[in-house]
Formats: sequence, structure tokens, C-alpha cells
Amino acid sequence: MNFVLHGSSVSRGIFIGRAHLVSSARLEVAHYEVAPQSVPAEIYRFDAAIARAKQDLAALEAHVPADSPPEFATFIGLHRMILEDSSLSQMPRELIRERRCNAEWALVQQMNAVVEQFEQADDPYLRERGRDIEQVVERVLKALIGAHQGIAERALPEEARLIVVAHDLSPADMLLFKRHQFGGFVTDVGGVTSHTAILARSLDIPAIVGLHFARHMIREDDLLIVDGTQGVLVVDPDPMILAEYQLRQSQHELERRKLRRLRKTPAATIEGTPIELLANIELPQDVKAVRESGAQGIGLFRTEFLFLNRRELPSEDEQFEAYREVARAMDGMPVVIRTLDVGADKALAEEFAAAPNPALGLRAIRFCLAEPQIFLAQLRAILRASHHGNVRILLPMLAHAHEIEQALALLEQAKAQLRAAGARFARHIQVGGMIEIPAAALALPMFIRRLDFLSLGTNDLIQYTLAIDRTDDAVAHLYDPIHPAVLHLIAHTIQSATRGAVPVAVCGEMAGEVAFTRLLLGMGLRNFSTHPAQLPAIKERILRTSLETVRPLAQRLLRASDPAKIRELLELLNA
Ligand code: PEP
Ligand code: MG
Repeated sequence: MNFVLHGSSVSRGIFIGRAHLVSSARLEVAHYEVAPQSVPAEIYRFDAAIARAKQDLAALEAHVPADSPPEFATFIGLHRMILEDSSLSQMPRELIRERRCNAEWALVQQMNAVVEQFEQADDPYLRERGRDIEQVVERVLKALIGAHQGIAERALPEEARLIVVAHDLSPADMLLFKRHQFGGFVTDVGGVTSHTAILARSLDIPAIVGLHFARHMIREDDLLIVDGTQGVLVVDPDPMILAEYQLRQSQHELERRKLRRLRKTPAATIEGTPIELLANIELPQDVKAVRESGAQGIGLFRTEFLFLNRRELPSEDEQFEAYREVARAMDGMPVVIRTLDVGADKALAEEFAAAPNPALGLRAIRFCLAEPQIFLAQLRAILRASHHGNVRILLPMLAHAHEIEQALALLEQAKAQLRAAGARFARHIQVGGMIEIPAAALALPMFIRRLDFLSLGTNDLIQYTLAIDRTDDAVAHLYDPIHPAVLHLIAHTIQSATRGAVPVAVCGEMAGEVAFTRLLLGMGLRNFSTHPAQLPAIKERILRTSLETVRPLAQRLLRASDPAKIRELLELLNA
């Protein structure tokens, strides 16, 4: 059946491919008793699923690309061993035979028992293995449920033709997808500046959120068109529509290729005013895309992604290696490392229990100041990395002067600890602050006086100014970057920082939206930080912008209070 769903665009471009439904199979497992005469058939079904999962792993092993990290092969080997173990391949058969549980139920019961044993182990390595067991069981469950035509069964290159369809994906889930090469993402829920959406954008593939019923209406392997530019998903298109989108897809690809040619062109306005273009990253592996994009440095390294999908926190050494890798790869260009911004939609392990209102709770710098040992370990790791490149520190979610003072005092403490240990670090390391809470934007002198640079986090600034949860698609229509209150806070921050001779960047998603480039330039912004894939389009817009023309228009737009007038002036700016 041919139909169209509308959602919010997260990442531009068009992709045509087959649906791959993703869900937590574990949550959807049916529990029922099988009739005595059906027990042998149920055992047979179970054995067949185990065999299928083994085949999947063998196929994966055979298709490991030569350039994939060595851990990948180790991880497949480990999963094969887990699957061979009788606790998963034999014990559930007993449960089916003796208690007449259906195969899925038997398997999940057995998994829970085994995982519990692992969780009680003193050895952190063993505790971590519980997660591998869960992943192996998910694979068998998929085979049992019949939704196994997924990542496992297909050879790796095939993944590139798949579109992930999910009800919801957490940033941690998205992080796992970074290892794969899907062609597109669509979800039922989620806001356009949620961290899930940000990760989808950093993968540089078309994505749509807020489709509401996609997960229920789409079947595995359905042919889909993801129009990430319009936020439209076409399911089972007829040949004419398909041909039309194929044409648009190739035009889009052509445009992108043209833009990539600007890689080495310096970013400057028509008058020749240089504009700094930096990149946002989540993991060290993103540096490759940064180098290819021609970015002049890294304006935001969201380090919290090193802390997700694991039970143990990364050690100081592990963090140091990650930061050093980025610092070295950037070869003297600035690398702004943001300290841990966990909480809200990037929750750590369960021991840091969810707050009643996590976006307003112990998030980011508040968490770090409440957990000084975790913060100190990160600061030491960043300081040590500063010996290997041009590293700067960025503090997220500041609202109070005492937060800056405490953070700076802890930085001094981290330096003293490193000195005592004889470790080397840069003599002077710049410390900046994120302006992403309205209170910070309104009390700017407090920040300008204490910090070396500022970075406007427009994603949170909009969320906190308009009191809407950036992850909640029920209020996504109220998420408005050109609300006059938001624009005033941004303009005021840029002007005050410039007057105070403190460099200021925008590193929220607004920096990567071509529709806002001229407005931000007209407000006085000279430093943008966004996903590497978005930089060429931003650069192209800058090259075609005259500051003399956009400055007065931006000022007129800032004076306007009527939303229709603001939109009209924005269109005029972009004409
Ligand atoms: C922001 O809030 O705009 C920002 C850049 O930080 P994050 O999206 O990680 O909250
Ligand atoms: Mg933020």
C-alpha cells in the first residue's frame, strides 16, 4: 500500500532503500505456555533460531572489512563463544520441556539468570560481559520472532541500503549505529535538536523524527523514500514517484559534490571579512570527517559520548588517549573539549538515578561539581592531552559565577596533581563557557570577566527560554529559533562578548542551518561550529554574503516583534 507520512526533518537529503525495523526485542517477547504435544516443535524452533544466530555471526565474521578495528573481530568471536555455551543454547530447552514455556520466554528467563550472575562479579570485565550476553540473546530473539532480516543476516555492504525504522532511539542507541552504515533513519518520536537527532545529523544521512506511527505501519523490507529535506517519508512508492525521487536524489548528490569543492577555499564574506568555521564531534573517529570538511578546528567535542553504552566510567587514561588522538589529528588547530554534559537525554548508568525533571536537574557542570572525582579525572585527562595539541576547555550549562569559580579551582587542583605526578601539560589552557541558559545570556559580564571565550548553545538556549523539552515531539512545533526572545538573547550575547573582546561562537544546531547563516553574520557572529557535513553549505552561503547588506536587515529583524514580519525579513535576508 502506497502512503506518505510527515515528520520533522533532522538531516537533509534523499535516500531510497528498504525498511529495517529496530526495537528492543527483549521488551516485546511473548510469554505463553505451549501445549504438551507442541513441546518438541517448540524445541525445534528454539534450536533453529540458535542455528540461525550462529549463521548470522559466521556471515558477519566473513564480511569484516579489512579496515575495521581489531575489536570488531574479537567482539564477534566473543559472541560466538557465548552462543556456543550450554547456558544459552541448552538450558532454555530444559525450560521449554519442563515448564512448557515458549522459546522466547525460556531464553529471556535464562538470560536474566546468567546476566545476574555476571553482574555480581567483582571483576569489571566480567560485569561488562553481561551486556554481550544480552546482545547475543537479542540476536536469537530476532531469529525466533522472524524479524531477523537485519544487520546480522545481511552482508555489511548491504546495510548501506537499509533505513532504520524505530519508535524511539536514545542517543546511546544512535551511538551504536555509528558503527554501521545505514542509509537513513526514521523514528516515531523525538525532537529535532535532541541528541539522537544531532547524532543522526553527524552520521550525515537523511533522517526524520516525529512520524508518530511509522514503526507500526511499516513492515520489514518495505521500500521507503526518506526525504530528509522536507521531512516526508514515502512508503511503497509507485514507479512515477520513485523515478521523481531518484532524480531529486541524484541532483542532491551533485549539489553536495559541488559544495565539497569548496573544501580548501577560505571562508570569508564578499568584503573579505574572515569567518572561522569549526566542527562539532562526538567521538575521536569523527576527526576524519572533520579533516575532509576543511574545518579550521574543532569547536565542540561532546565528550559525554565516551561515557555512554557502558557500565564503568572511562578511566583517566582511556579519556586521555581519546583526547590526545583528536588533538594530534588536528595538528595544531584548536580543539575545544567540552567537559562532561551528562543528564537529561544522555543519562549515565542506573546508579545515577533519573531526576524528576532531568533537563532541569543535575546535568552537565552541576553533575561534575557534585562528583568532583569524576570531574577531576576528566580535567587531568584533558590537561595531559593539551601537551599534544591546541586544546581548550569548555564548561557546559553554566548559570552561576560560583560554578565557574569552582570549576576553575578544580582545574587548578587537577594541574597541581599532574605537577606532583610529573605529567606534562600546556602551560596556558584557555577555558570557555557555554551560554545556553537564559540567565547566563542575561548576566553576561559575569562570564566575560571570568572566561577566555564563549560558545552559544542554541539548542538548550531555545529549550530553556521557551520552556519546551527539546526531545519531546509533542511540543516540537513550539521549538522556534526565531522567537524574538531567543534572537534577543543571541544578539545580546554576540554584541556583549564582542565589545568585551571575548571570542564567541555558536555551536548549537543553528550554526549548521543555512537559513540562519546571514542572520547570525548580521548580528556580528564570526565563528560557527557545526557538523562537518554541514560546513560546506555554510561556507558557500558566507562566500555569497555581504556584511554591509545583511547588517541593517538583521538589525531590522531584531527590532520586529511580529512573527510574520520576522519571517518576512528572514526571507529577505536569504533572498
Ligand atoms: C547546545 O545546547 O546548543 C549544545 C551545543 O549542546 P548540546 O546540544 O550537546 O546540549
Ligand atoms: Mg547544550
